[in-house]
Amino acid sequence: MIPPIADRFVAGESPAEALEHVRRLNGRNVKAIVNLLGEHYDERPPVRSDAAEYRALAGDIAGSNLDGCISVKPTQLGLDLGEDVFREELAGVVEAAADHGVFVWIDMEDHTTTDATLDAFEDLAREHEGGVGVCVQANLKRTRDDVERLADVPGKVRFVKGAYDEPADIAYRDAERVNREYEALLEYAFAHYDDGPTIAVGSHDPAMIERAIDLHEEYGTDCEFQMLMGVREDAQYDLAANYEVWQYVPYGPRWKSYFYRRAMERTENLRFALRAILGR
Ligand code: FAD
Repeated sequence: MIPPIADRFVAGESPAEALEHVRRLNGRNVKAIVNLLGEHYDERPPVRSDAAEYRALAGDIAGSNLDGCISVKPTQLGLDLGEDVFREELAGVVEAAADHGVFVWIDMEDHTTTDATLDAFEDLAREHEGGVGVCVQANLKRTRDDVERLADVPGKVRFVKGAYDEPADIAYRDAERVNREYEALLEYAFAHYDDGPTIAVGSHDPAMIERAIDLHEEYGTDCEFQMLMGVREDAQYDLAANYEVWQYVPYGPRWKSYFYRRAMERTENLRFALRAILGR
């Protein structure tokens, strides 16, 4: 059982609890990206088990007529064990999801995984046209080239600022610089992705969301907005009145480290968690 303080950010431990949350979201016009929490497995059994759960989840999403898709992490599907393991497990998940008409996102982890992730995405996205998406991170200096490379790949590309602490020789570490880069990437994408992948704006930042809306109006290029469960949810519901909005919904027994990360990243989240612990 997930304690009440954590259930703001995590939908539960079981797929059934996650799907119940998705049903509630769909009722408010928001779609869901469901993620089974797990990463950096150094042996095969948890990789096999999570891949099997994703395949079943895709069937459950389709079978319950929910507006949802799934998001996987490369090291959850075995990248630390080898690129061949990751490719095999990812292909199995994408094929099963495609059979059910369910979209698969590939999250982006730290810079040591970027090449393997983009290569696997590009191959699968061309094979399962429109069924796969990948995330790119504005804090990495390489990302401008990656965003150009992806311009003619079918599917979707999620733009985020980047969640990993990366070294200064390969990444921008100053928040203002990352913001400028994020805007520049959006400008490129809205100008060049009209026949390419759909743009997903993965940010809670009102300035970036406004910029994306302006660019969408200027170029007419398709886009969607994505935010995390428990973060600016009112803004998600408001935005959903005019745009396609997806909420990233994590669940699963490995929820603790994800919850602590969310609680620690902003003082108001920390205050919220402490209030819940102290019961006031
Ligand atoms: P920030 O730069 O953190 O904040 C900017 C402004 O946004 C703040 O000043 C405030 O106005 C508003 N804001 C931000 N957070 C809050 C909050 N908690 N409450 C109220 N207002 C807030 N990163 C990866 O590296 N790989 C991934 O695959 C990945 N996938 C993601 C998927 C989704 C759907 C989302 C939303 C994020 C994902 N991220 C991923 C995380 C991302 O890289 C950022 O670390 C994270 O989103 C914080 O950046 P931000 O753009 O939301 O805003």
